[in-house]
Amino acid sequence: MVLIIKDEYPDKLFREDGKRLDGREKTELRPLKMEVGVIKNADGSAYLEWGNNKIFAAVYGPREVHPHHLAKPDRGVLRIFYRMATYSVFDRKRPAPGRREKEISMIISDCIEPVLFLELYPGTAFEVFIEVIDADGGTRCASTTVASLALADAGVPMKSLVTAVAVGKIDGEIVVDLSGIEDKAGDADLPLAITWFNDELSLLQFDGSMDADEFDTCLKLGKEAAEKIYQIQLDALRSKYISIQESVNQSSNTSGGDE
Ligand code: UDP
Repeated sequence: MVLIIKDEYPDKLFREDGKRLDGREKTELRPLKMEVGVIKNADGSAYLEWGNNKIFAAVYGPREVHPHHLAKPDRGVLRIFYRMATYSVFDRKRPAPGRREKEISMIISDCIEPVLFLELYPGTAFEVFIEVIDADGGTRCASTTVASLALADAGVPMKSLVTAVAVGKIDGEIVVDLSGIEDKAGDADLPLAITWFNDELSLLQFDGSMDADEFDTCLKLGKEAAEKIYQIQLDALRSKYISIQESVNQSSNTSGGDE
């Protein structure tokens, strides 16, 4: 029997032609698309494909908090449940939520909370269920981005959307939007999230090594990349309302014709 070891790291993360292994330029994002209103039972939902990542987010709330002792009398609570499906990665992943999933859920909650008006919803919870069904690096950023979109789809009052992206360093070069292999075999990974209402960072993690100038470059490139992603989030919301408008127009035309 031959054992397949898929996660052997390549020696180089750039090709002969200077492009990354997946053919991207250093500041190029992976292909990204988003859609809202994908889960009918939810108050709001969104789906994202970002490179090989495929992620759903479903929002319920404001609703009663279970277990009750988590409720806060003076404000609502935001509960994020990030889960990576057992089949979403090549290596065996235990079905039960592990420490990593709990930590990422907490991080996403901290990223998104600043844009919500939780003080308006005492005693209740907003629950966001995030299911990563295919994972290939940057899932915490992709999940933050799609969760914020699902909250907007649910009509939850928000100061702005939140957008997240990872920047980092591979083979000594600063690059945007690390893939799974770049995340594992690279020199540094720096996920960040921006709350657009105040242009502030609500997430900045760092793993690896780089100098201060490289760090500044990462922040600049991260912001530029986040702006592009933000436009795709807005387009996803607009498309929903355009299609509602179109179906209203169509049905009023049809009923007009019947008279
Ligand atoms: N990953 C994996 N098995 C795991 C956890 C992660 O194969 O149990 C992969 C997955 O592709 C993930 C990547 O490693 O996207 C990087 O994981 P990390 O913990 O850095 O979080 P992420 O970059 O997804 O936010």
